Formats: sequence, structure tokens, C-alpha cells
Amino acid sequence: MKAAVVTKDKKVEITEKHLRPLRSGEAKVDVEYCGVCHTDLHVKNADYGDKTGVTLGHEGIGVVSEIADDVTSLKVGDRVSIAWFFEGCGHCEYCVSGRETLCREVKNAGYTVDGAMAEECIVTADYAVKVPEGLDPAAASSVTCAGVTTYKAIKEAKIKPGDWIAIYGLGGLGNLALQYAKNVFNAKVIAIDINDKQLEFAKEVGADILINPTKDNAEQLMQEQVGGAHAAVVTAVAKAAFNSAVDCVRAGGTVVAVGLPPEAMDLSIPRLVLDGIEIVGSLVGTREDLREAFQFAAEGLVVPKVHKRPIEDINDIFDEMQAGKFKGRMVIDMEMKK
Ligand SMILES: [Zn+2]
Ligand SMILES: [Zn+2]
Repeated sequence: MKAAVVTKDKKVEITEKHLRPLRSGEAKVDVEYCGVCHTDLHVKNADYGDKTGVTLGHEGIGVVSEIADDVTSLKVGDRVSIAWFFEGCGHCEYCVSGRETLCREVKNAGYTVDGAMAEECIVTADYAVKVPEGLDPAAASSVTCAGVTTYKAIKEAKIKPGDWIAIYGLGGLGNLALQYAKNVFNAKVIAIDINDKQLEFAKEVGADILINPTKDNAEQLMQEQVGGAHAAVVTAVAKAAFNSAVDCVRAGGTVVAVGLPPEAMDLSIPRLVLDGIEIVGSLVGTREDLREAFQFAAEGLVVPKVHKRPIEDINDIFDEMQAGKFKGRMVIDMEMKK
């Protein structure tokens, strides 16, 4: 079967790969779609260590074609996800307390194990989340990573209906964050981005206030207009956004970090202590988070924007991604011919 495999020279090669036979607890999936994520670019570029030979892909959606004899959680014909959180140990303090993504023995698809950018892939049956009826599988691939990550981040923001939430960065992640905040949590949304085009798109999706921090003082504006946001979610990959988020929330506010710039942020300790600010890091989501994120998308409350491409385009997609050329999500369509 065809698979997108990382090569020594930090490229991706479409090669023929053979899947090993299923082991206890596993299922085989015929992949339909697999989204392309910035994390794949980092894996391919060996930013997290040399991954030569691994099959990329952690935004996979496909249909179960075979199960091991002892599998009871899935059946042939089920549509399931192949996500970054591929498997936890199942028995550590994190796995048994609803924080399984923090498991120290976690496996990640397309990184520690072969992923979904292939015609077929093997999953651990108990960790593959079922895709509900009525959710388009290409859209589901986007929810598998960007969707669940932002849904979880807004959960971590602990907002109530009617609260103000500031979303920094309105790209692929931020746009979904906006939709979950607005349509699922009934929050009012302040969209902050240095790109007016992204802000326009945010407005179409329902943002209540738009701020371009290259033109306006975002923190001052938010404190003046709404008394400070109740929470902020930062998807932007820039230190300045994190610093701004701490200053834009009201006393008792929460700042949720999702974007991953490689720097440290500035943090005033008096601001943290005297105003009771909470700063939280949020990493993807659990199986239950993903199940919920899928359900809201199936109900039409969140609509990911996806562009389908053939698997042969993968190196072009990475070049375009590195150049910051596209908006929305690129999704490999396994059926599409070049
Ligand atoms: Zn991803
Ligand atoms: Zn564990």
C-alpha cells in the first residue's frame, strides 16, 4: 500500500509499505482522509529528532477493515479517527484521572508509531474514536487535531455563557476555536490577529470584536470596551501574543496556551499574584474530548474549512506551509488521483 514516509534528507517519499499482521487489541483501517498539520512539518524536518522511515499523519479518518480476535470496542465498517494521542499506558496517574494526553508513555501517530498518511494503518482499537453519523469524513479529519485541540483549550478557559473570550491568532486553529467558543460555549468572542484577511474571515464566522494589534493597543481596547476578557486562548505562534493575553484578561482571568513558539514569555509576578491570573498549557485532547468535539461538528455547530489534495502533493503542501501560503486545512484525499 502507498504511504508517505519521512526520508533521511527531510523530505517525504510516497513508497510501497506492507503492514505487519494485527496484534492483540488492534484494528486495521482503510484511510479515507488525513489532514496535514504543522506538527507533521516539524516531524519531517527532524525538529523533534530523526524520524526517518516513519509514516506521517495524525489527522486520519478511515473505515475499519479488520479487527484482532479479542477486539470488542470496534467492528468492521466503523468509521474512526487516527489522532496524535494514539495510545496511553492506561494505568498511570494521568491515564486514570482524565488527563491521558499527559501520559509519560504516550504514543503519537505519525511520530512514535506509523500514522495515517497511507492507504491503510493499524490502530489500537480502544484508542480509536468513532466518527458520528452525519459528519463529513474530510471535515472530521480537521476535528481530529485542530478541532479537539481548540475545543479542549476553551474547556480549560472555564468560561460561562455570555463571557468574553479573546482568541489570539485566527488561522486554522483559531478559526475553529472561535466557532467552538461562540456556537458551543455561547461566549462572546474578541478576535485578535495581525492579518486583516484572517479578521474578516473571523467576522464572517461570528466574532463580536476584531482587533489588529499592529494598528490598535489590544490590551487597552479590551480593558476599555468589555472590562477585560474573562479568558484568552492563544493559538498564535508569537511571544507577543502570549504577553498581550496576560494583560487583556480581567482579574481572575485564565490564559490558555496552545501555540508553541520556542521562546519564553514575560510574566509580571505582581500581575499574576495580585490579579489572580491563571496560565494553563493545553495539549490536544482526550478520547472523550474528541468524541464531544466530533459530536458538535456533526450537529453543524462547527464547520472546518478543508481543501482536498492527492497524496503525491505532500512535499508541495509542506513547501506551501513553510511559506505560509494557505488558509484553512489541507487534507490528503486517499482516493484522489494526481
Ligand atoms: Zn495536527
Ligand atoms: Zn499513562
